Amino acid sequence: MSESTRNADVLIIGGGLSGTMLAVQLLRLPGARRILVIEPRAELGRGEAYSAVELGHTLNGNAARMSVDPDNADDLTQWLTDYIGAGGWPESDQQHVPISELFPPRGIFGLYAQQRLAEAIALSTSTVEHIRAEAVDLQVDATSALLTLDKGEQLRGTCAVLATGMFPAARTPQTESTGLNAAALDPWDVQAMTQLDPHSTVLIIGSGLTMVDAVVSLEQAGHRGPIEVFSRHGLLPHVRRQPPSWEDFLAANHRLRSPRQLLREVRRQCRLALEQGIDWQAPLDTVRSHIARLWSQASEAHKRQFVRHVRPWWESHHHRSPPLSAQLVARLQREGRLRIRAASFKGLVPSDDGVAIAVRLRGEQGLTHISGAALINSSGIEYDWRRVARPLPQQLLKRGLIQPGPLALGIAADACGAVLNAHGQVSPRLFAMGPPLRGMWWESTAVTDVALQAKALAAKLTQN
Ligand SMILES: Cc1cc2nc3c(=O)[nH]c(=O)nc-3n(C[C@H](O)[C@H](O)[C@H](O)COP(=O)(O)OP(=O)(O)OC[C@H]3O[C@@H](n4cnc5c(N)ncnc54)[C@H](O)[C@@H]3O)c2cc1C
Repeated sequence: MSESTRNADVLIIGGGLSGTMLAVQLLRLPGARRILVIEPRAELGRGEAYSAVELGHTLNGNAARMSVDPDNADDLTQWLTDYIGAGGWPESDQQHVPISELFPPRGIFGLYAQQRLAEAIALSTSTVEHIRAEAVDLQVDATSALLTLDKGEQLRGTCAVLATGMFPAARTPQTESTGLNAAALDPWDVQAMTQLDPHSTVLIIGSGLTMVDAVVSLEQAGHRGPIEVFSRHGLLPHVRRQPPSWEDFLAANHRLRSPRQLLREVRRQCRLALEQGIDWQAPLDTVRSHIARLWSQASEAHKRQFVRHVRPWWESHHHRSPPLSAQLVARLQREGRLRIRAASFKGLVPSDDGVAIAVRLRGEQGLTHISGAALINSSGIEYDWRRVARPLPQQLLKRGLIQPGPLALGIAADACGAVLNAHGQVSPRLFAMGPPLRGMWWESTAVTDVALQAKALAAKLTQN
């Protein structure tokens, strides 16, 4: 053991929303524990999502849906009420809706998470310390977990939790080989976009919520030229509305299992709703609470079927766009400035000026070359840790401390988040939460997923 090794009860690797909410839940439990949160960013509670600085980069759900407290669904609404009352976010009154229906900017949501952490620290007999570093290696023995940081320091904990979030696809070797990473603009970097000729053409790969954010960024930067969007299915996220409640039809029928059966029933329920003049989002929203059960019980063949055939529609119908951003995208489409085409991205092609890409448009055999002044990559997340070119995932795989999760989505763990090693043994020392558990639960990323997992995992870690 190095002389500089520091000891703790819990080592939390990653201080985004997951790591921070786990710290909050641990602080709220009786006892006196030493918690170290290892996070290279300057602030805890933000991660990629809540480091946003633009007011237009909002949550994709309204305040009533985004509480970080599983015991109080109104927690964010209450916090926002105080925050706005104290003069914060003055622009919110332009929306003319109750506070519970506001879609807060993600940067303000980050403040909320930070404030809940500060309050929990003030009231607790446990302590939290932010260690500003990247964890690069981990060793586990019968009694402890030994973490090595990028500057060589070592931390020893009774247990360690992987709260490392999502790894962007563009940072992985596979897409690196297309040169996409080097050529692309950051979807959230408004400042960089102000350097573009405002009338130039911008190309965007991917048509999900990151694309919607990128369009907001371009608008904010004063871009007024054409935007060409390419994605495999050419599907745009639907706009989030506030549908009324609907009978939880899956609660009454646990026999529905295969993606085909489920899809048929969901469609039937949506048709029923529409016939009654009710928004189709009402029945679809009842499905959310069954996803973890349905996914974890599904056979591998059914999981594959879902990913292959249903996923694009699930993503566009379930992961919906905040209304103001959706209105902007719709307006640009109406004005003919934004066009979405179904196409697969095949790589960059040499260009003397700006960027050029090769795509295969749906229904066409050959490749089409498209040029623009800039390219934005919003093509998503790399869930397969074997392809994540960061030291910690690679070391964990090399040491046999983890194994890929179902369909190589994230890593394998038991129902409590205890990680499975390469031999399938459940670790008593190493745990995971949030996006790394994508393969275990399918939906393991959103605010509400993370908040629930944090509470359950804190209880598990303090059981003995
Ligand atoms: C742009 C964006 C917008 C989103 N918007 C919404 C939304 O509106 N609503 C919603 O419900 N969900 C949204 N999400 C989903 C979002 O991922 C979750 O809400 C939440 O941020 C997940 O938190 P996390 O801490 O698990 O992951 P992250 O936020 O990714 O944080 C993980 C942290 O771990 C750190 N880390 C990684 N590896 C190491 C290491 N080896 N050592 C030390 N630290 C490490 C990283 O620096 C990072 O800060 C959004 C996600 C993104 C990316």
